[in-house]
Amino acid sequence: MKVSVVTLFPELFTEFLEASILGRARREGRIEVELVQLRDYATDRHRSCDDQPYGGGPGMVLSPEPLARALDALDARNRWTVYLTPSGRLLDQRLVEECVERHSLVLIAGRYEGIDQRIVDLYVDDEVSIGDYVLSGGEVPAMVLIEAMSRLVSGVIRDESLQEESFVAGMVEYPHYTRPEEFAGMRVPDVLLSGHHAQIGRWRRAQSIAKTRQMRPELLDGIVDATEGDTER
Ligand code: SAM
Repeated sequence: MKVSVVTLFPELFTEFLEASILGRARREGRIEVELVQLRDYATDRHRSCDDQPYGGGPGMVLSPEPLARALDALDARNRWTVYLTPSGRLLDQRLVEECVERHSLVLIAGRYEGIDQRIVDLYVDDEVSIGDYVLSGGEVPAMVLIEAMSRLVSGVIRDESLQEESFVAGMVEYPHYTRPEEFAGMRVPDVLLSGHHAQIGRWRRAQSIAKTRQMRPELLDGIVDATEGDTER
């Protein structure tokens, strides 16, 4: 899969792209991430990329011309182009899966008040928000989307690990424990030490339901029988 990111701050991605699972996926050629410095497409001697908003108001807006040049250079009209913005569709696992199916994406990281609407009208296929809060730029949201997508690219994470994760079965995940058996006076639940896989499976599902009910009750609608939530420790 290939992802190109248009940004004023490509340096923010450097460590992120090298480390851990994503770094390995890139080195193995499973995902390619191309960083495009928007300023390289400005033409004036100050390499300016923003201007004041028509109609007045605070802040600046990313100008259409450098962005259009950058997007044309990336062949964005023939690729799935996403603008990260707080006013977009809320990112969830299903939307991540949709993006992975596109195989070739262009991400636009905004700054200031955002980008000129005509760029949205001309180039953007989808607008995506990572949550109902406002960040200073689209770089962190782009990283969020890239990392979430990279986990779903074939060969990056073992299939069985993905099956167990939050949201795959429409619920959040059960709690995890590792050694030691007792920590700070708290013991690992007996069932996890039993070696009885069917019981462990039932305990984990009950824990998933209880945690989902507590944290994200809206996810449970229509998924589980309301009587299923009892948990055993
Ligand atoms: N004026 C915009 C508004 O009120 O919706 C906020 C602009 S924000 C300060 C600057 C840039 O950060 C946006 O263009 C967008 O690319 C990015 N951004 C901020 N919050 C975001 C979020 N929750 N999801 C996705 N992108 C976000």
